[in-house]
Amino acid sequence: MSADEQHGAGRVPGRQFFFNPGPTHIPDSVLGAMHRPVIDFLAPEFIEVLTRVHERTKRVLKCSQHLLFYGTNGHGAWEGALANVFSPGNKMLMIESGHFSINWAKMAQELGLEVELLAADWRHGIPAGALEERLRSDKAHEIKGIMVVHNETATGLAHPIADIRREMDAAGHPAMLLVDTISSLASFDFRFDEWGVDLAVGGSQKGLMMITGLSFTAISERAMAASETAGITRSFVDWKQMMTVKPQRFPGTTPVHLFYGLDEALRILEAEGLDQVFARHARLAGAIRTAIAHWGEGGRSGIRVDADGPSGPVEKIELLCGDPARVSNSVTAVLTPSGIDANHFRRIALNKYNLSLGQGLGPLAGKVFRIGHLGDLNEPMVLGALATIELAMRDAGMPHRPGGAQAAIDALGRTN
Ligand code: PLP
Repeated sequence: MSADEQHGAGRVPGRQFFFNPGPTHIPDSVLGAMHRPVIDFLAPEFIEVLTRVHERTKRVLKCSQHLLFYGTNGHGAWEGALANVFSPGNKMLMIESGHFSINWAKMAQELGLEVELLAADWRHGIPAGALEERLRSDKAHEIKGIMVVHNETATGLAHPIADIRREMDAAGHPAMLLVDTISSLASFDFRFDEWGVDLAVGGSQKGLMMITGLSFTAISERAMAASETAGITRSFVDWKQMMTVKPQRFPGTTPVHLFYGLDEALRILEAEGLDQVFARHARLAGAIRTAIAHWGEGGRSGIRVDADGPSGPVEKIELLCGDPARVSNSVTAVLTPSGIDANHFRRIALNKYNLSLGQGLGPLAGKVFRIGHLGDLNEPMVLGALATIELAMRDAGMPHRPGGAQAAIDALGRTN
């Protein structure tokens, strides 16, 4: 897709409805907090802000152990978590879930780690018990780290991290647990200490409602101890030099303004209350799923004819995530009926109505569109997006049962 197609050739009036799964809407007060004169990054008044951001971020992570920030996007924190704790040749087990799991695994390989994929179908994730079974067979404890994406942004599937920890414990396996919380943190619950996570990776631009450019790793005492002997060559993300000053030192200039912005975003989250934030995300996600289920009741009429004769369901719009217990409350991936190019539909939504939706990633390109519903979002925004999606479905000739937005209103009316 060309830049013009992606961003709309010519201006469509009105504010863009941005429903990509990150970056997300930035509250005006967060933008305002960054609109300030420059200040020395060693000034005591800034160190106070940096210290407060550390404390507040730890509260969101439910982490009482270590936390270090990087002036990078999430990829930097992915690298920081791997490079500081492991050594070339170490064996890692990646729980497959979609595009982001595969890419994190690739990075680990590029850093010299040996990665085994615990294969899963992208609609359901690994079956319960599969991790325990694999770990029980690793009698020599060769696997040093288990990598999992809490919320797979490419597919809208959320992993139950507490269950993953339970399976590790049941197998009596000592591997470190690494969790990517980039599109889950501050949208639904994450408990670093309680779930025995060793390394959690997060970024500023999704549930934390900030611009892109800050990322971080929460680090267990065990992972910090392991960093003493980790053998991967590192410099920019090296924790040792970051830890020489409290709360942390940055290689080079500290991105001061980003911390002022994040401080305000965290203040807003605390003012709403994390549990309320999670409940809001669950409520809005439920309404979106209700609309999709409603649209899906109007598939193409008739029975699909497969090679082996008439069979199967009517082709219809449906959730990509096939496990109701694992649906994400921050991202929804929607399968379009075969023959309908999801990117053509997205182009109509963007170029005609200024509604931006996420694309299908990797093998899902053209088959899926994604709705990001995380961060600074409320009912009018979600209902506006759903009504506009329905409008664009008409234009795209996408088979659907009209009235999905109304079904979402009814669902919200019941839950409010
Ligand atoms: N992990 C997940 C789950 C993501 O959704 C993303 C980005 O969307 C990343 C990692 C990569 O983060 P970044 O784009 O900030 O490098």
